[in-house]
Amino acid sequence: MKNIGTVYLVGAGPGNPDLLTLRAARLIQSASLVVHDGLVDPAILAMAHKDAALISVAKQRSKHTLPQDQINALLIREALAGRDVVRLKGGDPFVFGRGGEEMEMCQAAGVKVEIVPGISAAIGAAAAGQIALTHRDSASIVSFVAGQCKGLSDQDWTGLAGKGRTLVIYMGVKTAARIAEKLMADGLSPAMPLAVIENAARPEMRVLRGVLASLADIVSQEHVISPALIVIGEVTSRTNADIARIITKDAQETSA
Ligand code: SAH
Repeated sequence: MKNIGTVYLVGAGPGNPDLLTLRAARLIQSASLVVHDGLVDPAILAMAHKDAALISVAKQRSKHTLPQDQINALLIREALAGRDVVRLKGGDPFVFGRGGEEMEMCQAAGVKVEIVPGISAAIGAAAAGQIALTHRDSASIVSFVAGQCKGLSDQDWTGLAGKGRTLVIYMGVKTAARIAEKLMADGLSPAMPLAVIENAARPEMRVLRGVLASLADIVSQEHVISPALIVIGEVTSRTNADIARIITKDAQETSA
């Protein structure tokens, strides 16, 4: 009987190769086939063997996006042909990465799957921006939500942000204005501090701070681009002086 390959769903973290797990680094270096999405940093792809095949199924504004069912079909086809596949995803495969769907489709086709966790953007951005998501004096709850998905206005976020709580919004750049309106309509103070962290854990990172009422302006005036996270809560106003200087400098440079 023919051998069936394994599909490794591997988290590539927020960008910096130093933030890969050892398991992820070893798999990337030894893979003969790497299937990756658009969020994976080129420095990480450069770790693959020179003879490895790299297939981009870039999500995010790419003209060459492969629909999810074709991504699933590709993984299954290669594994059934006997190849191990490293399926590389930004951050963690199970945090807004559609890793769950890929795992289920592979398993349904009789293909073995191994999940290699990665540092999700929220964790990487918090570290890089020096924002303690659950600082003991400011928050004991942290929630991760998707700001761009079906029925944003129907989603119930009440209670996720406010005193003692930190809300981290993935994929919220395009919908920032609606997000701010939604949260204020739910009773959150317009003066609630927040930070927008763009390109976290990459050399071009920017950390912009403001308050909920100014979220839409920050995103448009500073031309915030994806990938970026919005972190809402008191913990964002504790940022240390060094990082705060970077923020002030960035804000002045771009608005000048
Ligand atoms: N699985 C990924 C998330 C995929 S959804 C993870 O665990 O991180 C894509 C969203 O993640 C982006 O729209 C952005 O909100 C966020 N993101 C990913 N990488 C990021 C980075 N380096 N800096 C800021 N946000 C990032």
